[in-house]
Amino acid sequence: MPKRQQKSTKTPQSSPVGWSMIVTAFFLILFSLFLPGTPTNKSQPYSEFINLIESDRVERVTIGSSQIEYVLKSDSATEQPEQIFITAIVKQDTELPKLLRQHQVEFSATPDNSSDGVWGFIKFMLFFFIFLNLAGLFFNRGQQGGTGASPFSIGRSNARIYSEGTMDVTFDDVAGIDEAKAELYEIVDFLQHQAKYSLLGAKIPKGVLLVGPPGTGKTLLAKAIAGEAQVPFFSISGSEFIEMFVGVGASRVRDLFDRAKKQAPAIVFIDELDALGKSRAAAGAFMGGNDEREQTLNQLLAEMDGFEPNLGVILLAATNRPEVLDPALLRPGRFDRRIVVDRPDRSGRLAILEVHARNVRLAENVDLDKLAARTPGFAGADLANLINEAALLAARNNRSAVVMEDFNEATERILTGLEKKSRVLNEIEKKTVAHHEVGHAIVGSLMPGTDKIEKISIVPRGVGALGYTLQLPEEDRFLMIEDEIRGRISTLLGGRSAEELIFGKVSTGASDDIQKATDLAERYVTLYGMSQRLGPIAFDKVQQQFLEGITNPRRQVSPEIAEEIDREVQAVIEGAHQVALGILRNNRELLTELAQALLDREILEGDQLRSQLQQARITEAAERWLQSGSLTHNSLPTLNLAGNGKLAKD
Ligand code: ADP
Ligand code: ZN
Repeated sequence: MPKRQQKSTKTPQSSPVGWSMIVTAFFLILFSLFLPGTPTNKSQPYSEFINLIESDRVERVTIGSSQIEYVLKSDSATEQPEQIFITAIVKQDTELPKLLRQHQVEFSATPDNSSDGVWGFIKFMLFFFIFLNLAGLFFNRGQQGGTGASPFSIGRSNARIYSEGTMDVTFDDVAGIDEAKAELYEIVDFLQHQAKYSLLGAKIPKGVLLVGPPGTGKTLLAKAIAGEAQVPFFSISGSEFIEMFVGVGASRVRDLFDRAKKQAPAIVFIDELDALGKSRAAAGAFMGGNDEREQTLNQLLAEMDGFEPNLGVILLAATNRPEVLDPALLRPGRFDRRIVVDRPDRSGRLAILEVHARNVRLAENVDLDKLAARTPGFAGADLANLINEAALLAARNNRSAVVMEDFNEATERILTGLEKKSRVLNEIEKKTVAHHEVGHAIVGSLMPGTDKIEKISIVPRGVGALGYTLQLPEEDRFLMIEDEIRGRISTLLGGRSAEELIFGKVSTGASDDIQKATDLAERYVTLYGMSQRLGPIAFDKVQQQFLEGITNPRRQVSPEIAEEIDREVQAVIEGAHQVALGILRNNRELLTELAQALLDREILEGDQLRSQLQQARITEAAERWLQSGSLTHNSLPTLNLAGNGKLAKD
């Protein structure tokens, strides 16, 4: 994804100087272990040494700066070999050379070994340190585009700077999020005509928080503001503030603001604000607090309070988890303006596709509007990726322009992963997968509000998908009605039910379906309050608005309620399972017929598939089950904790 690439151009997270200090310290310790230490020769008192000379038993002497090494004559009587001893030197003894000469002992002085070792070591370390810093400086420069950080600037912010005029992104490059654009236009106007605002005494917000799912164009928007207003753009990610050393993050914040203020008017953009501004209360409860983050956050708050509103520095921050942010960050005078940047709707997607298709040669048959209709839930980054994938496919096929088929294939790729022709299934596996997929398709085609079945395939794709049923929506949906959720769960279980029915046993291939079905059933009960027994009570605590796949923590519930939740989830799943089984049992002929066709052709799609699926008939039990959820007055929550929780209606 383009997002990734962008990230990788960011500067390294920690200062190379900081690292070189660590490395140097490490080597210092290592070397000190190997420093030329005291030789292991036997040490003797000085007086003993003098005695030995006077009794003519010393062969030769080497005088060092702090010790004397002497060798005793070999004693032929006792067949003793030469023995080496040392003794500490006595500096005032000026008589020693005379004494040695008298007794004709060979003597010499050595260049000072030990101190020489120390000096060499120090010189080495100096070189080493300088070398590391030069290397660090070199890297730093490379990455900062030559802004020239000093080598001893631990804690200087790594913010990338795009100076005036170099930010060539404008609002024209941002599409499909018109409300957000409109709100931000005011800021552009302020940056361009500050005097007008100051004259009127109007205060422009200091901090604007962009919240929304990943890839919806938050970074792009921030850049576009800088590009439109032609002001410098400082950008850093929240996670880059957090360093190993306590206090480094805080000094980075200080430095970032100093630099921005110097170049005002300017935009400072902090991506992933949640990495830095996680609520202190929440963090403390789970991890005993984090000094570094807290200090950095405090510094950020102090800086935000410190500058005058109309100074011309505007702080933009992006997050997809606004609910975890520290309330202090959101107080008036800080990030008090919040702009939601959500996934685009159909017309928004069309606009984004058009922006990204500007530089792509499209064939006549390409219908971007149709493409926009088929891609609900895609964020801007996904759509950019889609266009690029299609262009790559066209290039691979040596086409002169990108055709609609390339876009269809690219959409499928993004939804299901790459085709894996190399994965060869054996006969039994193929049969299992074929029946499984047709099971999904038949149940899916009968459920209310589900998307059109577009394609069934048993060509393996992506990670783990041995076959797939592609359901593409005709329109955007913003709500799911209760029976549609049940229908969806039933469709998910259709694959496994087909295996059960045809083979009498199940394979591992349904695990992903089961996972999804269980998730959905749990949300049905704990988040949407659709369980009749438990009623409209939320059992989930925080609602993750923008990130999927993160489970919310449960509210504290009594053990009885927890049990009841489990039972309700199980009841929903089991009901859906029985419905799927019933439908497939009733349409068994169609199931085997379609599965055989799938085995022959590997892919079933288009009008032919649709007309075949139209033969499928829903069962009465299924219809009753789908309707059983609709609330009537006498079915309002009746909490029977002793009951066995089965859905009685089916
Ligand atoms: P976010 O910061 O919200 O995670 P980005 O701004 O980094 O998302 O978006 C990544 C890329 O996706 C952008 O560089 C752009 O190419 C594309 N993109 C995302 N949203 C839009 C949009 N609304 N209009 C045009 N392109 C978009
Ligand atoms: Zn399946």
